[in-house]
Amino acid sequence: LFITIEGGDGAGKTTLITQLTERIYKETKRRTIRTREPGGSPIAESIRSIILDTKNTKMDARTEALLYAAARRQHLVEIVMPALKRGSIVICDRFVDSSLVYQGHARGLGVDKVWDINRFAIEDCMPDLTLYLDLDPEVGLARIAENQHREVNRLDLEGLAFHRKVRDGYLQIAEKFPERIRTLDASEEPARLAEAAWVLVEKSLA
Ligand code: C5P
Ligand code: MG
Repeated sequence: LFITIEGGDGAGKTTLITQLTERIYKETKRRTIRTREPGGSPIAESIRSIILDTKNTKMDARTEALLYAAARRQHLVEIVMPALKRGSIVICDRFVDSSLVYQGHARGLGVDKVWDINRFAIEDCMPDLTLYLDLDPEVGLARIAENQHREVNRLDLEGLAFHRKVRDGYLQIAEKFPERIRTLDASEEPARLAEAAWVLVEKSLA
């Protein structure tokens, strides 16, 4: 079972994945492979550090999109595909929808163009379930500002307008793929959000 968690920065993806992993173990005694994008394998983490390096201010938008797709490919082949083949549950913090939204919609490359390069990267390995954590970017950015443990990255230099486009992009693709992508209200308190997410995951596990 392949589950991906999507949402803007500060939506609470990392916290939710921890809660879901624990809940899945408690209810089913199954362990979850928990991973993230961009990154999740040594080569993909190296690509991640290039993408997010605050010094790389000259990075072209298409270069960025190709690097995300390259990191995705490597992580899929090394980590996700073998785990799914073994019958494991995989939960990934971000996946292809992030590229469609950040590079396709917010950066303005076009969702169809970004989908094309990603189809090459992922072949037909799509998530069974995607949870989209919907949140006003102003709230998300305020949460990030409070979190001192988070390392600053190149995308933090983007303003509110960019993050509004990200939300807009997510809402559009969630509407386009209603069976796969389920929207959750990330302004809810963490325990309620985790409960709502569990209800959806439990259905997919059945
Ligand atoms: O989710 P995480 O915080 O690890 O993502 C790192 C940064 O990369 C974030 O600032 C996110 O907004 C950005 N990102 C992006 N395009 C993607 C995926 C992530 O701009 N496709
Ligand atoms: Mg996170």
